[in-house]
Amino acid sequence: MLAGAGLDVTILEAGAYRNESDFTHLEADAYRDMYLDGGLNTTADGGMVVLAGATLGGGTVINYTTSFATPPEIRQEWDTVSGFSDVFTGADYEASTVAVQTRLNVNKDFCFPSPRAQLLEKGLRELGWHVDETPRNVVGCTEVACGYCTMGCRIGAKQSTLITYLQDAADHGARIVTAAHVERVIADNGTATGVVARVGEATLTVQAKAVVLAAGSLHTPAILMRSGLGGRAAGDYLHLHPVTAVWARFAERVDPWSGILQARYSDEFANLDGRGYGFKLETAPVHPLFPAAFLGWEDGASFKRDVLGLGHLDVGGILLRDRDHGRVELRKDGTPVWKYAISKYDQAHIREGVKRAAELYAAAGAEEIVSSTIRPVRWRPSSGRPIEEFMTGVDAIGYASNQTNYFTFHQMGTARMGADPATSVVGPDNEAHDTGRLFVMDGSCFPTASGVNPMLSITAIAHRGAMRLAERMA
Ligand SMILES: Cc1cc2nc3c(=O)[nH]c(=O)nc-3n(C[C@H](O)[C@H](O)[C@H](O)COP(=O)(O)OP(=O)(O)OC[C@H]3O[C@@H](n4cnc5c(N)ncnc54)[C@H](O)[C@@H]3O)c2cc1C
Repeated sequence: MLAGAGLDVTILEAGAYRNESDFTHLEADAYRDMYLDGGLNTTADGGMVVLAGATLGGGTVINYTTSFATPPEIRQEWDTVSGFSDVFTGADYEASTVAVQTRLNVNKDFCFPSPRAQLLEKGLRELGWHVDETPRNVVGCTEVACGYCTMGCRIGAKQSTLITYLQDAADHGARIVTAAHVERVIADNGTATGVVARVGEATLTVQAKAVVLAAGSLHTPAILMRSGLGGRAAGDYLHLHPVTAVWARFAERVDPWSGILQARYSDEFANLDGRGYGFKLETAPVHPLFPAAFLGWEDGASFKRDVLGLGHLDVGGILLRDRDHGRVELRKDGTPVWKYAISKYDQAHIREGVKRAAELYAAAGAEEIVSSTIRPVRWRPSSGRPIEEFMTGVDAIGYASNQTNYFTFHQMGTARMGADPATSVVGPDNEAHDTGRLFVMDGSCFPTASGVNPMLSITAIAHRGAMRLAERMA
């Protein structure tokens, strides 16, 4: 948008440029080449695997294409928490949401249910729980052949930032430098004047009239802190939407690596506390390395049986809207460390999620339900043993880090928007409270967790911020 407004734009991306012809659809290649730290990093206590994109286009290149707009009640909460009157509830946020939905081609035309989605829907309908089709940012998705899009969409159906906004920027003359790791922002008398980046052995200094940070919630605060900017809220309010799973073994083949990534979802339990906190039920594509991290350890024979039987396993994803938060800190070498412990409050919602997902897959006809805890707890619904017995087993292990297995796919809120510099980093125009012409436009801006998969909210915030910046720079 800035390039389209005629501004001279340089984009620095720490990852590489990879496009359709590079996507081998082999897990090892994809994680190594396009995921942050090869998909092998975790929160500080090792309790949550951290997944994020690290390639030109960021997470949008490898994500699941689930495209929810920010719900009205979250927009209201964000204005209340941030102390704004109408930043998120205002007409320009709405207009930006519609603009990004249009540019990213969000639609429900490609929601052919995979076997995973069919089983999810079957269980939800049996129990009379909410189920709906998932809006997706795809054009010409072949649907049935899908399932490998977390390793990049080979046919260019996924409308990632790489083939939408970054392509637009390049078409308008923006310069893109890949493998450029931004170390710090240069500021002079309280105004940002550029950035310093490392490109291999070289140092690249870019002088600029405005600097926009969009390195994601895991790294944007690290750049701020390395620069001594952002104030005391920089790095704080880290939300991770912790995800755990319940495994379900079916007599029939599920082939959980195949089909549309998330064609169905349920919001039946999205508001457990009357304050908007709870969980979404979604499925996810399961390739072999995934259960290696998500299945617990009992003994070698059981693990081998589970992984060899992957074709009959389904996964129920419990996506928690976390009320409480962690923080990003810097190690001595300047790299970020993500400190996060799931609070007792949020653990109670996870427990409810495990129980409900187990009920759901039992209703869908699963032969066996397996918890995703460090030691698996197993339940055969047809055995006549009640679900409470299964839950007693899971309770005995617990729902804290390193008891239940967790992943984070959504990182949010470490340089948040707000009116008060004590609790936020940037104001209503995304400009830092303490530094003029320094902006943040990514998931770090969220005042609280979005509850829904965050891509569209991030893009809407960036769109609104870029419109305002373009007007100011004109
Ligand atoms: C497997 C997976 C599936 C997902 N599925 C969905 C989904 O279906 N729907 C949805 O809404 N969300 C989904 N998400 C989440 C969504 O993709 C992210 O929330 C979103 O991409 C975050 O956007 P961002 O701009 O904040 O940061 P990112 O997309 O993470 O982009 C940040 C970029 O900055 C780069 N960077 C980091 N540090 C530096 C530095 N120092 N210098 C230069 N560059 C740097 C990174 O390499 C990265 O490319 C998924 C995420 C994953 C990992």
